[in-house]
Amino acid sequence: MTLPRVRFAPSPTGYLHVGGLRTALYNYLFAKKHGGTFVLRIEDTDQTRLVEGAVKNLIEVLEWAGLTPDESPELNGKGGGAFGPYVQSKRLEIYKRHCEILVKSGNAYHCFSTAEELEEVRKLQQKQGLQPKYNRKWLPESLGGGAPESEIKRRLDAGEPHAIRMKVPDNRIIKVEDIVRGTVEFASETIDDQVLMKSDGFPTYHLANVVDDHLMQITHVIRGEEWLSSTPKHVLLYEFFGAAAEPQDNWAPPLFAHLPLLLNPDRTKLSKRQGDVAVEDYRAKGYSKEALINFVALLGWNEGGGSEQEIFSMDELVEKFSLEHVGKSGAVFNIEKLDWVEQQHIKRSTDAVLAAKIKPMLLDALKNKSAELPVEVITGDLYLEQVAAQMKERVNFISEFITFSSYFFFEPETYEPEAVKKRWTPETNALLTEFGLQLEAVQPFAAAEIEAALKTFAESKGLKPAALVHPLRLSTTGTSFGPSLYHLMEIIGKDACMRRIKRAALRITADAVPS
Ligand code: GLU
Repeated sequence: MTLPRVRFAPSPTGYLHVGGLRTALYNYLFAKKHGGTFVLRIEDTDQTRLVEGAVKNLIEVLEWAGLTPDESPELNGKGGGAFGPYVQSKRLEIYKRHCEILVKSGNAYHCFSTAEELEEVRKLQQKQGLQPKYNRKWLPESLGGGAPESEIKRRLDAGEPHAIRMKVPDNRIIKVEDIVRGTVEFASETIDDQVLMKSDGFPTYHLANVVDDHLMQITHVIRGEEWLSSTPKHVLLYEFFGAAAEPQDNWAPPLFAHLPLLLNPDRTKLSKRQGDVAVEDYRAKGYSKEALINFVALLGWNEGGGSEQEIFSMDELVEKFSLEHVGKSGAVFNIEKLDWVEQQHIKRSTDAVLAAKIKPMLLDALKNKSAELPVEVITGDLYLEQVAAQMKERVNFISEFITFSSYFFFEPETYEPEAVKKRWTPETNALLTEFGLQLEAVQPFAAAEIEAALKTFAESKGLKPAALVHPLRLSTTGTSFGPSLYHLMEIIGKDACMRRIKRAALRITADAVPS
């Protein structure tokens, strides 16, 4: 097979929708799996929907997700490719030329109907219970319509504003071959004479999309199901162009794969109203790209062959992805599942990988808060890997390594009041102070030695270790739960432990302690 060329062709609406991320991902996976090319093309022919900075933002988000295109709009000296420009508003001449071919071959015609007239026709059809469709008022006599050629010519010569519409053939069944859905048939009667070129000189999506897919040598069109109903129009356009072209210019349509709808948990179409839909929202909430990509990959695809694997790395997805295992039925976007995938990725990551992710977040946190231990120590790989090892079973997000276990980096400022009430007795201060002093002699300051010291001390006082363990955790971390106390003490080190025990004894004053 020739190497596939696929494209992600979003309109620049200002943010990347999670559905768009899925489309981009499936295109990317398909291209990478087969050694093909992943193209990013910006479809900005609807100038009323333009958003400043949208393209830059889109490219940035795709790169963050690891879906860097092989060909894309040129921006800041990056991108480009042999089939550019990759922004449709920079290709207007190309569309104009192609539209003229269709007019010449009798597959398209000029339409002078005004917006008001069209609206009236639409209302009337609605009243009559008919499907709204252009009434072909300007279909020329030469194409079987009622508009005299002389009147069309007169208006064109006078420079009257007009659109150009495709002439959909009558009494035809148009077949769309779709990899996901099989053969889908459309009766031509149900298809409108679609506007191809608007009066402002901009093409519509349909014309630009087909022309670009052809010129950019796209082999597979992988896109959302909402475009399926447009596809018969596209199939006709390929046919029209093919009939008018030289034999060596092959206008055979690409292969189509329409991806299932994304649904809210109540099975309505995924919408902003029921939650976040922008990739950036999930990124800002702290989801990792690995988890988001994994989760989105499962929205419509499964490995098949009875596999129950749900956690995949990008490399595994590239290896295992196939369009044959994309399903037809809508895929529910379930946040609890995303959270689970995120946790699984954290659990399976090596300590070194986690340390590298924690570090930038910690550096950020250190801008607003000063650390207790030297910054070069707590931001060092070794330290962060130890924190990762202790906490990775306990956190749901990378950011929680810092928020849930801030005591690895910052001195506790508060002590859980409930735990103080429960665990602190009037004797605790004296006991902990005494034990704190004994820590000086623990050598090496490692989990096993700290544990042994605590047990010996408790025994000498006729106490159970628990009588000391709980207040010790409170004084060193401010919390009543967490990873192994002895390990965390080893990580934060002797000096910090001794200092924290002293400070807690001063801060947890008698009035906080029930007598
Ligand atoms: N511009 C369309 C969109 O915004 C592209 C559809 C297609 O891939 O053909 O999704």
